[in-house]
Amino acid sequence: TPSQHDTDIHQLDEDTVARIAAGEVVERPASAVKELVENSLDADASSVDVTVEAGGTELIRVADDGAGMSEADVRAAVREHTTSKIDGLEDLESGVATLGFRGEALHTIGSVSKLTIRSRPRGADGAGTELVYEGGNVVSVEPTGCPEGTTVEIAELFYNTPARRKFLKTTATEFAHVNRVVTRYALANPDVAVTLTHDGREVFSTTGQGDLQAAVLAVYGREVASAMIPVDADGDDLPPGPLESVSGLVSHPETNRSSRDYLATYVNGRAVTADAVREGIMGAYGTQLGGDRYPFVTLFLEVPGGAVDVNVHPRKREVRFDDDDAVRRQVDAAVEHALLEHGLLRSRAPRG
Ligand code: ADP
Ligand code: MG
Repeated sequence: TPSQHDTDIHQLDEDTVARIAAGEVVERPASAVKELVENSLDADASSVDVTVEAGGTELIRVADDGAGMSEADVRAAVREHTTSKIDGLEDLESGVATLGFRGEALHTIGSVSKLTIRSRPRGADGAGTELVYEGGNVVSVEPTGCPEGTTVEIAELFYNTPARRKFLKTTATEFAHVNRVVTRYALANPDVAVTLTHDGREVFSTTGQGDLQAAVLAVYGREVASAMIPVDADGDDLPPGPLESVSGLVSHPETNRSSRDYLATYVNGRAVTADAVREGIMGAYGTQLGGDRYPFVTLFLEVPGGAVDVNVHPRKREVRFDDDDAVRRQVDAAVEHALLEHGLLRSRAPRG
């Protein structure tokens, strides 16, 4: 019988496991920004300031005025699979209200970066806590003077996984991804003041007191904002299908871009992409848009809980519906109705 030394199979050490796992959750700076912004929103923040340097490759800082954390919570937050958001699988079955729930973001990001958390619980007097974490290890935990809420800093993402760091694109490309992520959350949360700063320059800042139209104005500017028309369809306005309502803003056909980046679509408040939704939108515009041109769209779809699975992979924003065809028809009808009402469509032959 072979001795145990004859086997080629061995257990990986914890550090290696953590770094591999990190690669699955965090692909690039924008994915880390997404996790931090979601945490701030889950903490009920009314302002979220995102600051990045060199497209997020050198520094990402997300500061919020949310619920904050005690020293014990800060320590717990960076441990593996620690969350305050669900207790067990039954919470997932009944539908989670928070954006996060896996309890892996801070731990995994911290295993491939230099992470600093400063936090003070809302309403707590006294000092807050500063925790420094590097490559998966707690370096220090100290009391610190800080405002209520939480600031998380990620420096030198992938500093200890050079192969992955090498795969990062140019500053401009990485920042474009960061910008798209932060923009999506800013548009979905007009009641939160969201600011994005890149290399010391403010890119946009929403007031946190506005409606969707105000958020679009802050993020995309006056020209685009003035070209937006409302979509608001539910009940009998929609053909049969899983969607309960489709609402938001879409642009005049002449206000378009050659990138899909400006199609911001949400299902039950989560920023997602879905082929059926995009095809429904594009179908409504029909030939009004030239080839490879896309409108500005901020569209919220509501689906009854359970009809869509939120337990998708953290990196994937793609969702699938049971009945893609019905979703496509519903989105098409809602957007088409809005465009027709504003006289923005040439009449078209009915499709079969
Ligand atoms: P998840 O969001 O899936 O719970 P994370 O690793 O992102 O996992 O965060 C772990 C925990 O740390 C959260 O459940 C939350 O309790 C706490 N936390 C993280 N970020 C913040 C924040 N900005 N404000 C308050 N609490 C936070
Ligand atoms: Mg989280």
